[in-house]
Amino acid sequence: MQRLGKNAGRYLGDTIDIRQVQRDIELAAVQHGWTSETFFESHEFKLFALTRNSKPETPNPKRIYLSAGIHGDEPASPLAALQLLQENRWPDNLDLWFCPCLNPIGFTMNTRENGHGIDLNREYLNTVAEEIKAHLKWLERQPKFDLCLLLHEDWESHGFYLYEQNPDGRPSLAEPMIEAISKVCPIDPNEIIEGRPAQNGIIRPNLDPRTRPQWPEAFYLITNKTRQSYTLEAPSDYPIETRVNALVTAVRTATDLISK
Ligand SMILES: [Zn+2]
Repeated sequence: MQRLGKNAGRYLGDTIDIRQVQRDIELAAVQHGWTSETFFESHEFKLFALTRNSKPETPNPKRIYLSAGIHGDEPASPLAALQLLQENRWPDNLDLWFCPCLNPIGFTMNTRENGHGIDLNREYLNTVAEEIKAHLKWLERQPKFDLCLLLHEDWESHGFYLYEQNPDGRPSLAEPMIEAISKVCPIDPNEIIEGRPAQNGIIRPNLDPRTRPQWPEAFYLITNKTRQSYTLEAPSDYPIETRVNALVTAVRTATDLISK
């Protein structure tokens, strides 16, 4: 598969009409029985969280949290959220929480940051951005999750990669995800990705969040909400269908495995 070669210094590929994508997301969610809760509104945009319960009387349902669209120059992320909601193929024994687009205004400008130039994914400890204050308030009201999946893209990567946080050494979902994704999207072969050691597209960062002042969402989640989390990075110099397919495949593989 050929890289497009469009990205130079930033993401310069296809953009999306986020208003339409958000409408389609809400429509699919309603059609498939999700509950939507708006936790932040500003101008014409709102942030909402979708929830859906496992089948009644499921013993020990697993709790899964997903988030997408926190960086406005990563369009495959909310598009993957939309496709997952439209396809509606979730194992019956999962309780699901889904924030499908955390930075809608960023998509109107094709910028990583929000309307005030803030990278929202550095805001989860010392928080200035109002939307992340609201997101944290919402998260604090939710139970602990068995698994968190965060959907991203990287404009300069050579293929798909992911970060695994799994401090208790639970059965890793990283290799099965990479194996499944490799059938639909190139995997980044580099041994150093984003300055960190990587193997077959898997980064297992050895970082103590307490030593870092700027927390991404993943640091907040692993510290407060979960013991297993994956940040999924699609390579945004490939065709958008490929990247959406990669993210959807990652979520499907992880949710299928954790449901067993
Ligand atoms: Zn991102």
